[in-house]
This record gives sequence, C-alpha cells and structure tokens, in this order.
Amino acid sequence: MTGHPPGAVALIDAQAIAHNLRRLRRVLRPAGTRRAPRIWAVAKADAYGHGLEHALAGLADADGLGVLTLDDALRCRRLGWKRPILAMGADFTLADLRDPALYPLHVVIDRPEQLAGLAGLPPPRMPHVWLRHCGALNHAGLQAGEYRAAFRSLHAELEAGRLAGLGHLQHYAGAEDPEQLPRERRAFHELISGMPGPLCTENSAAVLSDPASACLTDWVRCGIALYGISPLRGLTGRALGLRPAMALQAPLYATQAVRAGQGVGYHGGFRAERDMRIGLVRCGYADGYPRTVQGPCQAGVQGRMAAIVGRVSMDTLAVDLSAHPDAGPGDAVTLWGPGGPEVESVAGWAGTISAHLCVGLTARVPRILRPEAQEPSRPVAGATRKKARVASK
Ligand SMILES: *Cc1c(COP(=O)(O)O)cnc(C)c1O
Repeated sequence: MTGHPPGAVALIDAQAIAHNLRRLRRVLRPAGTRRAPRIWAVAKADAYGHGLEHALAGLADADGLGVLTLDDALRCRRLGWKRPILAMGADFTLADLRDPALYPLHVVIDRPEQLAGLAGLPPPRMPHVWLRHCGALNHAGLQAGEYRAAFRSLHAELEAGRLAGLGHLQHYAGAEDPEQLPRERRAFHELISGMPGPLCTENSAAVLSDPASACLTDWVRCGIALYGISPLRGLTGRALGLRPAMALQAPLYATQAVRAGQGVGYHGGFRAERDMRIGLVRCGYADGYPRTVQGPCQAGVQGRMAAIVGRVSMDTLAVDLSAHPDAGPGDAVTLWGPGGPEVESVAGWAGTISAHLCVGLTARVPRILRPEAQEPSRPVAGATRKKARVASK
C-alpha cells in the first residue's frame, strides 16, 4: 500500500467552519432586527485542535479572532490575519504592547497587576481593553471591588486618549444551564450598571441556548460551535444546524480471525461469542483516542458502523468486521466525524467532552485540510457508500 499516511490523520473541513460561522450570524440576527453583535471567533488551543492555519481558512468572515497569548496573536498575524485579535489570557509589559504587528489588538484585563503594563502607552498603537469580572467561574477575572477601581483608572486613561476602547467582559460558568445563565447575566449587569462601554459576553452555549438575550451584547466569543460541535448536553452539532469540521481517520492495517471463546486486546476486555473477523486500526491512545471509552462503541468502516472490540491500546484499536466482509488493509476507518460516529458520541462513551478529544489529539496526528472538491459531509447512514480511503496528503 502506498500513498496512505501510516497512521491517524485529522481531516479538517474549512467550509464546514465557514458554514458554522454563517449559522451563528443567522442565530444572532433574528428576522426583523437590524443590529447584531460582532463575533470573536475563538481559536485558542490551536483552534480547538483543528490547526490554526486550517481554521483561518474558514474564518475569513469573523470580525476578530480570540486567542490566549500575545505569541498566539503574532502567529495569527504571520498567517495573514488582519482584523482585530483579542488576547484573552495574555501576560504583557509595556514593551510587548509596542509591537506594531499586534494591532488592531484587544486585551483582557483579569488581574490588577496587568494595569501597570498599560499605563503610559504612547499613541497611536494602543490596545482596546476589556475588563473581565471573575463571575461564577472564578478562574480569571477581577472581584467586584477590583473591577470598579480598575474601571475608574482605565476610564481616565480612555478619556485622556491613551486607550483605543474600554469594555466589559463576562465568561459564564454555566451557560448551558437555563437557570444559571440568566442569574449570571443579571449579576454582571448589576455590577457594571453606571459604567459605560461595550459588552463582550456570550459563548457558544449562551448563543445557541438563548439567542434572544445573546443578541443584546456587542461582541460574542464563540469557539466550540464554529468547529461544528454542540456546546449543549444531549444535542449534537448537527441537531443545531452545525457541520462537524473534523474527521479523525486511521487506516485498517491488518485483519485477524478470532475463534469463539478467544479474547481481543489487553486485560481480556472482550471475549468472542462466535468465530469472527476483526480489523486492526492504526489508532490508539498515543494518538489521543480515549482509552476510557466504555459500552457499545463504534467506528465508521466503509460508511457503516462497526463495533470497537476490546480495550483501546497505545497504537491499535480493533473493530468487528463481521458485517464488513469486503473491508481490509488500506481501508480508512473513521473514529469520529463525517463517515463515523459524531464526536459527541465518542465523548459520551469516554465520559468527557468533545473539545477535550479534539485538543487531546497528539502531535503525531497530522491535521490535513480537506480538499474543497469533497462531497458534502454527511452522517453515516445504514446505506453503504463508496469505499472510503484515507485521504493522502
Ligand atoms: C474558550 C472561551 C470562549 C469560547 O467558548 P466556547 O464555549 O468554546 O464557545 C469564550 N470566552 C472565553 C474567555 C474563553 O476562554
């Protein structure tokens, strides 16, 4: 076999990302409204494991990019991103902020110490500043008293023409919880009442679960939904009108005849009830496929589901080929995404969330941009599809 990558690959569909961005825009602009919030496309953690450069190919229409650090921001600039960048967790000194390549730059202030890095910045290179309240999440962010004090001092800087802007940022702890979300919104609005400035609130879960309220902000920050993954428990991205942007594929490298009563995999996790043929797939927990999957787990083979049998090992997992008599070495197996199970299902089997799986793919898994001529990605149906092969680079 030539032309096949030797191991797992993540195929990234930039058109799906562009579709998901359009979908969020529609959700944020209900019929009859004229004003809609602008969208920070959150691309932290290498675009949620999809590869920043591939994600950018689908995000051209976003109003800005949200990343963690100034180094991330510079990487976006090197990749050609010209619109605003929001650094959500940056450490910086005055000297760092003088780099003209960063602009237009927005920075989040979530600790009082950061204020020192902003004081006395010479125009014209000045960041737009967002104050972040710690809220119910309590990971990063200013306490109420610190928030008011920071606002007073930064507002004076703004009035003196030493900041490009000053706004209010909130990140929810329970955006997917219909009772907690309004409580968190209310608490934030109470805190900032009387303080002028734009608002930057609402992540994917808040936008998709309560768009009418999400529309009232000035900027939203959406990550997970852009990649076609549902932020809401019990719903898939597809059910929300999103298209999954990643397919994790790996080649079937061998088959094995297993007799009734024999085991498959370490620790005797599986015992064959009848004679069967299994396929060995070049993907394991060294690629980031979770070893913790439990219950009836599946992968896509030739467009239909095959059961995963036995424990996932470091470099291999096994699938039951009883219903796939033509499958053999060189066939592509889809571990999640179009052609296989939804990533939300795999996350459920593994007792985790989809974002954890996507960012958990290891360095040896190349992220490959899916060619544009691709047929539209569809979920696996019962019907057979043409023999899918692992895409070659
Ligand atoms: C990750 C992150 C987001 C995006 O959240 P999603 O749930 O992926 O939409 C928004 N804001 C902040 C501060 C974040 O860290």
